[in-house]
Amino acid sequence: MRTAYISHRDCLLHDMGEFHPESPERLHAIEDRLVASQLMPLLRHYDAPRAERAQLLRVHDSAYVDDLFARAPQPGEAVMLDPDTWLAPHTLEAALHAAGAAVLGVDLVMSGEMETAFCGVRPPGHHAERHRAMGFCFFNNIAVGAAHALEQHGLQRVAILDFDAHHGNGTEDIFKDDPRVLFCSSFQHPFYPATPLAERPNLIHSKLRNGAYSEEFQQAVTEQWLPAVNRFKPQLILVSAGFDAHFEDDMSGLNLLDTDYAWVTERIMELAAAHCENRVVSTLEGGYVMNALGRSAAAHIKVLMGVH
Ligand SMILES: [Zn+2]
Repeated sequence: MRTAYISHRDCLLHDMGEFHPESPERLHAIEDRLVASQLMPLLRHYDAPRAERAQLLRVHDSAYVDDLFARAPQPGEAVMLDPDTWLAPHTLEAALHAAGAAVLGVDLVMSGEMETAFCGVRPPGHHAERHRAMGFCFFNNIAVGAAHALEQHGLQRVAILDFDAHHGNGTEDIFKDDPRVLFCSSFQHPFYPATPLAERPNLIHSKLRNGAYSEEFQQAVTEQWLPAVNRFKPQLILVSAGFDAHFEDDMSGLNLLDTDYAWVTERIMELAAAHCENRVVSTLEGGYVMNALGRSAAAHIKVLMGVH
């Protein structure tokens, strides 16, 4: 498999304080593990471009985007958008590259230059709604990528699969009334973000109880995601790859293992082989304990690469 690794050094500059779990070290943890497992040289490396304003406006309100830029702080300052989410001096640069990574990933797999892509970027995106930042997220990276696939590449069916421990409320908010997008999300429930879950034919909510183990996660994916995706027949699969459901990660009460991330990625690659010529673009969401994040992301990327 030809697999892209898309990132940008500016993604390391966004810093919400030394005690904030969404830290620059997260990207180092992933890249360190890719080096240790000898996968790094096998990936094709790309610098993430900045997302263009028009690409952001496909999924975000212009007043929201303008407001973020208007409130960008001076060095040494930070602006609270919600109690977990702070606009710091380099936040917008990082967020523009994080969203642009998803756009480039889509372009690379749609052109056939690459088959799969992983966006090693931050800030994450899946909690960002059309009109608001929340939960460490500013622009909804995966949604920007999906909208680019629909509008620029003319696709009719894009599946977004989200295995972060938290519900991707932002992705749901943006696409709940767009039948061109199937959104499957597994998440601890009830739990953050605790926004109302919309009931739509294109939304699959796989609710996992606090304390759920691998078996419950795999059962939900097998019984809920796989039939829905097979019916939908996506032309492209996008993945919101959050690793905070890992049992070592105390950001959630879920108990997944490294091997679950390999397992779910194998199922995703089977779906991609069946429906969309292996085209998968995955982007980093959560994952806050460095060792577990590094190992889990590497396990995910290894399967995206088709390395056994
Ligand atoms: Zn999360």
